[in-house]
Formats: sequence, structure tokens, C-alpha cells
Amino acid sequence: MATSELPLYRDLDKPLQRDLDRCVHCGLCLNSCPTYRELGIEMDSPRGRIYQMNIVAGGAPITPSYLEHIDLCLACRGCETACPSGVQYGKLVEAARAEIENKVQRPFFTRLIRGAIFGKLLPSPGLLKFAGRLLHLYEKSGMAKLVRTSGILKLMGSLGEAEKLAPPAEFPSFFESYGKVFPAEGARKFKVAFLGGCIANISFARLNDATVRVLQKNGCEVHIPKEQTCCGALHLHAGIRTDARRLARRNIDALVDGGYDAILTNAAGCGSTLKEYDELLHEETAYAARARKFVSLMKDVNEFLAGLDLNPHMGEMKIAVTYQDSCHLAHGQKVRSAPRKLFRSVPGLEFREMPLSDLCCGSAGIYNVVHNDMAMALLDKKMENVNSTGAEVICSANPGCLLQLRAGVKFHGNGQRVMHVIEVLDEAYRSADSKSLN
Ligand code: SF4
Ligand code: SF4
Repeated sequence: MATSELPLYRDLDKPLQRDLDRCVHCGLCLNSCPTYRELGIEMDSPRGRIYQMNIVAGGAPITPSYLEHIDLCLACRGCETACPSGVQYGKLVEAARAEIENKVQRPFFTRLIRGAIFGKLLPSPGLLKFAGRLLHLYEKSGMAKLVRTSGILKLMGSLGEAEKLAPPAEFPSFFESYGKVFPAEGARKFKVAFLGGCIANISFARLNDATVRVLQKNGCEVHIPKEQTCCGALHLHAGIRTDARRLARRNIDALVDGGYDAILTNAAGCGSTLKEYDELLHEETAYAARARKFVSLMKDVNEFLAGLDLNPHMGEMKIAVTYQDSCHLAHGQKVRSAPRKLFRSVPGLEFREMPLSDLCCGSAGIYNVVHNDMAMALLDKKMENVNSTGAEVICSANPGCLLQLRAGVKFHGNGQRVMHVIEVLDEAYRSADSKSLN
């Protein structure tokens, strides 16, 4: 059967009563929910949202109020970690959004923008590269400065907010590394594939370079397969499951038969989705087994490195570091100790745990653009906790969180550096290298 003819199982794209019934309404998740903590409104808590999903599952229409409360959820899955009944809230909210997507006609302009971003831009390396060049030109020509000082952004609503939070484009983009193989330093111990992401290839190209270097330092031959594509996480979070499945099939075809010891990502949000391809495609005869194999190889780069005897040839890093758990690493993938273990392996580094490190910072994909007020309120509180540690470096494990924390430093910080965990390791290795050259 050709890929395009595969059935799409859209009928499963709504919360199943069986899963909703797991919630016993105990309320033990409420204190872990950022929107409930901020607003104190039951309908903006996990329990309240499940209650509303139950009403819709019972045949009630999807109302604007239902849309509002489901949209305001960050899908951070903090409630999942707190729930003693094993409610898989992340799946429920994705399914609720898929149902909304299928049943509710959004305004024409919204559909146009969503179609362009989700359907065209994110899956296309060519368009992403082109957009990256335009962004670079916009920054370098002075146009960005002009727009930011003109006051026009205030009139543009969420588009203006998006411009303020947009990361600069980095050149060359990581797309230039597609199709390349980077040899292991020393004896090859592992053959791994690295997924560069979609927007991250433009805005976090240097982070991707650093990831490749750290893997090379640890005996990995790193392959960047050129047929890879966007993981589909943003599509899934927006309820656009058909496109997410299409992207999942493309990634599986690009990677699963490569003979890799592991398939790696440095983006927690992507990793969480990539590790769930088996569930996304479980009813597709041609892909179910391949998806399970893909998932068995899939690892976050922190998780992979923490499982190795790390190359200890690092320079001393006399810095105090605090760590913001990325929701999709801590709650989505249950990976909490790996980044902390990596910090402990860096000589000289002092690790300072912040209070409530696993409460969402308000980034959540494009949440900080579409729900800017809530995202900024959450960021204010996050920065109080960051600042209380006195650390000069804030680390996280997801590009979206890094962007949000950079905004946090700009508005409420003390000049802290914001780095991915991998960038700390990369600096430590590079510092050792430069010392041995001198
Ligand atoms: S996913 Fe996050 S924001 Fe949504 S209900 Fe759960 S804890 Fe609250
Ligand atoms: S989601 Fe879990 S913790 Fe929250 S009210 Fe339901 S059963 Fe209790």
C-alpha cells in the first residue's frame, strides 16, 4: 500500500471514555498545575479540564468556554507526574485538541496561518532555510531594530509578541550538516543518528554543532541523515494528527534501517513525541512494528550520555549552575537524574537546585506567543526561583525553554547565561582541548 493511501484512524482522535474514567477527582494534581496555581480556577486545573472533556465525550457540544480552557493548558504534563491514578493527561489533552481541530471551524485567517506553518513551513527544509535567511537579513539590515523601537509591535497583537520572542537566525544553519557523517574521536564505540529538529536547525544551529562535538568526544560516529524531517510535536500539540503521522512515517523511513545504536535528539519536546511514534502509528499495519523499533532506539542526548562512562577529559568550569527541568523531559520522558549526573561530571561546576524546578516556565512550544500574558506571569515566578539560587548559569534541555529563560533573564534576571546542558559539556571539553594546545 502506498504511504498516501494509509488509513488515518481519525475516529480515535478524541479522548476515550476508558482513559477519562481513570481520574478519580482526588485533586492531588492541582498544586502541580501552573495555570491552576496562577488563576485558582477549577476549570483551568487538570481535574476541571478532565471534567469538561467528560461532558463533551457524553455528547455535549464544544463551546467557546471549553475551547478556552483546553487552549490555556500548557500540555506540560506536570499533573501526570503528580497523579496517583496513572491518568495519562498528555494523551487526553492531545486527543481533545484533535477533536476540536476536526469539529471546529477556526476563523479563515487562523486557518491560513496554521496551514502555512504546520502544513508547509515546518516539514520543509527548503522553506525553513529560506525563512532563516529572511530572518537573518531582517536582523542584520537594522530593520528589526527599527521595528522594535517604532512601537508598531504593540499594534500587532500576538504577531508582535512573536516577533519579540523570536530567536535570531544563526548562520550557517545546521541544515548544511544534513547528509554528513562526523567521525568518532578515538575508537568508534557507537554509530548514532542525530535529529536536528526543524526551527532548531536555524535558531539553535550552534547548539546542534555542540551536540555533535560532545557525541564525537564520547566515541560516537554521528550521522545526520538528510531525509529526516520535523518530528511533528507541534502538530500533535495543536491537534493536527494527520500531518504528525505523515512526518512520523517519514522519520521512520529515514532512520530505522540505518543500523544505528541510538537515534538522538537534544530537544526534550521533540524527544517526547519521537518516543511515542509507536502509539501514534499503532494501528497502521505497514508501520506499527517499524515505529516500535524506532522508539526502542530513540533517546534524549542527556539520557544517552548519562548512561556512558563519560570521557573525563574536561577543563575546569568554575561556575554555579541551576537547572530548569524541561517539562517534556521530566514529565514526558521521566528523565530527571541524567542532566544532574552530567553536571556532577564537570570539574569545578557547582550545581544549585532551584525551588519548583519542574514547574513549567511558560514556554510550551508556541504557547508563549499565543498565551503571552499567562506565559509571562509564569516566567516572572520562575525567575524569582532562579534568582534565589544566585547561580550565574541557567541550564535546560529544550530549545523552547532556553528561549523563554533568555526572555526571563532580559526582563527579571541578573545577567545569567542561559545554556543547554550539552553546551556546558562542550565548553568543558573545548577548554581542556585549548589547554592541551597551549
Ligand atoms: S498539562 Fe500542565 S497546564 Fe495542563 S492541566 Fe496538566 S499541569 Fe495543568
Ligand atoms: S488527574 Fe489524577 S491527581 Fe488529578 S484529580 Fe484526576 S485522579 Fe486525581
